[in-house]
Amino acid sequence: MLVMAEPDSLVLDAADALVRLAKVTKSFGDQVVLRDVDVDVYAGEVVVLLGASGSGKSTLCRCINRLESIDSGQIVIDGKVLPEEGRDLARLRADVGMVFQSFNLFGHKTVHENITLAPVKIRGISKSDAAKRAHDLLERVGLAHKAKAYPAELSGGQQQRVAIARALAMEPKVMLFDEPTSALDPEMINEVLDVMTELAAEGMTMLVVTHEMAFARRVADRVVFLDRGQVVETGTPAEFFTKPRTDRARDFLAKIL
Ligand code: ADP
Ligand code: MG
Repeated sequence: MLVMAEPDSLVLDAADALVRLAKVTKSFGDQVVLRDVDVDVYAGEVVVLLGASGSGKSTLCRCINRLESIDSGQIVIDGKVLPEEGRDLARLRADVGMVFQSFNLFGHKTVHENITLAPVKIRGISKSDAAKRAHDLLERVGLAHKAKAYPAELSGGQQQRVAIARALAMEPKVMLFDEPTSALDPEMINEVLDVMTELAAEGMTMLVVTHEMAFARRVADRVVFLDRGQVVETGTPAEFFTKPRTDRARDFLAKIL
């Protein structure tokens, strides 16, 4: 729902956030890695999470999937508070697709098996439906001809596109990408970014950690800048890249641009 805030500005109603982190704090030992982090990702939105190495980006993504527990605060996915454990956690997790830097495909399974396993086992869909969906998804990422291949037979860029197809096969409500192109040879980066760009254009809700600034500028609806575990700035790419408001953001941009 759109709500008029001031006559000339529109803000989205917080109730509509598909993913909401509210005052999330997370420490490892006595190191506070996330401090009072508020991040909202609305349906259909692409949010790019930026920040220097060690600023907490991966931890934030991992908390959304409960691969890490949080110390305080709340994570809400599609209106439901992410629980510590149990069946509700499994259900909410299935709504969140995740693509990591390292491709994490099952090495001893074919591409087709990689994509069909979880939908059959966890979503409970039939093998034939899963097979059809896998075929469609592989076509979408340009790899229909690789269904019978094993991950080791694919390039890094191809493996990452399979990883995206595998995540999409679960029909997630939101996709998290944690530096999906950082482990790739330069010539393979664009084939993965192109798939992500297309996904964004189709309306997928996405939270993306990336150092690909051209992609961020082009595809992000909003940029969130994290520094030492705190959200320091959030704004449109145009605002963030051309008029950063804080010294920390200016320093970050000076180093990477
Ligand atoms: P980023 O993804 O922005 O590079 P991370 O979320 O990976 O940052 O890490 C943030 C901080 O948390 C770093 O100082 C890192 O060393 C620390 N950290 C991450 N995971 C763990 C862990 N499992 N145990 C201890 N410290 C961790
Ligand atoms: Mg990281």
